[in-house]
Amino acid sequence: MDFGHNIFVDIQEKLQPISNTIQEKIKLCSHDEKAISIGDLGDIISKHKKWKECLPRVEPFYAVKCNDIYPVIRLLADKGLSFDCASKAEIQKMLDLGVDPSRIIYANTFKQLSFIKYAAENGVSLMTFDCEDELTKIKKEYPQANLVLRISPQSNNKVIYHLGRKFGCHPSTALKVLQFAKKLELNVIGISFHVGSGCLEAGAFEAAIEQSRRVFDLGLSVGFSMHILDIGGGFPGQKNVHTNITFEEIAAAVNLSLDKYFPGNDVRIIAEPGRYYVATSFTIGTNIITKKIVTDEENVLPERDLHDHPTAKNENLRMYYVNEGIYGSFLTCFTDPGCYLPSHFKDNHEEVLYNSIIWGPTCAAVDLVIDKIKLPDLSTGDWIYFKDMGAYSITTATNFNSMPRVEEYFTCEKKLWQDEKVSESDTSSSDNNIYSRQIT
Ligand code: PLP
Repeated sequence: MDFGHNIFVDIQEKLQPISNTIQEKIKLCSHDEKAISIGDLGDIISKHKKWKECLPRVEPFYAVKCNDIYPVIRLLADKGLSFDCASKAEIQKMLDLGVDPSRIIYANTFKQLSFIKYAAENGVSLMTFDCEDELTKIKKEYPQANLVLRISPQSNNKVIYHLGRKFGCHPSTALKVLQFAKKLELNVIGISFHVGSGCLEAGAFEAAIEQSRRVFDLGLSVGFSMHILDIGGGFPGQKNVHTNITFEEIAAAVNLSLDKYFPGNDVRIIAEPGRYYVATSFTIGTNIITKKIVTDEENVLPERDLHDHPTAKNENLRMYYVNEGIYGSFLTCFTDPGCYLPSHFKDNHEEVLYNSIIWGPTCAAVDLVIDKIKLPDLSTGDWIYFKDMGAYSITTATNFNSMPRVEEYFTCEKKLWQDEKVSESDTSSSDNNIYSRQIT
């Protein structure tokens, strides 16, 4: 799916103001010229409330990979969520938090033998698979495991990130795989799917639930005691430049399909939401290190790049080099340009906007945060901030060029924090209601 060419216009329409409180926090917390992130834990608490209201039948297993920052997983563990883990280290992290092994699904269809062994030793018995080879490994290391067959749902509905090519068994080959599991005397108890991350059309869930029913029945016909349906992740975390579909709309469609294809309470319905829980909870503040104005002559790209490069036009540009880029929290900009919504701090609002580019701080030419954006005339030292940075952002950062990682702060409305009785033991309280913990 190509969104590249319309991004420029879309972003202009959707620039959003940020609350003065967060602005002040960012200014207050900035030390050492580091980019900073502010995580609003109250936002995550509200998301969980909404999940329970909108999807009462569906137990969330939060996808740890999406954002495994300690206060986030601590909060969700305290709130009694279960967890989708992708590796030995993620399982270990959740067990160390005191999460019971029965609250973990090892939802990676490709597992190293030693990781399966670790799951077996620690009683994490629920795990996904999608092919015969994986079953052979599980037979060797953990024959008592409770297995969930991940299918690759077939539909033409739009999602931002398709997962079906790499993961999942095509529904048409499911019977063969289930028969192989039976031959190995393994224990298949359910079906799972993931419609793709960032689902843009509820129809993707409707099709997947219908197809799961068919494969579920195949499992029953082979003689398995099937009693789990795992509807995966993909629930939208925020309104973004691609779509206006809301979580509520998707939840309503999911509920109808569940009632139609899995009526009653015999089947336990679980899900693996990631971005839904955390996307809107983080704001990142970046600071302009250097500004460069590029004139018409200087901005000419090599002839061969002009055809397919959306910004390749001969015009003046303000280039801003900021202290966080795609090797830091903005990796997603590489695959989904324009996915984050930038704005700026400027005390006196300026009307005149200029074509601008925001670059990251490393020496890599691909370290480009926003290719083209209208911004006022900013200066070195000014802040540009990005909302909705909670999912697949800070946790995917590298230290390429040995650049410092963002400095992390957390905030939560004090009353909400106290009402929820969240454990404060691992976050240090500084001014008012801001909790900080730096990545070590
Ligand atoms: N489950 C699995 C197996 C995944 O691979 C992912 C994301 O890649 C998720 C859940 C979370 O997906 P999302 O963040 O779109 O909800």
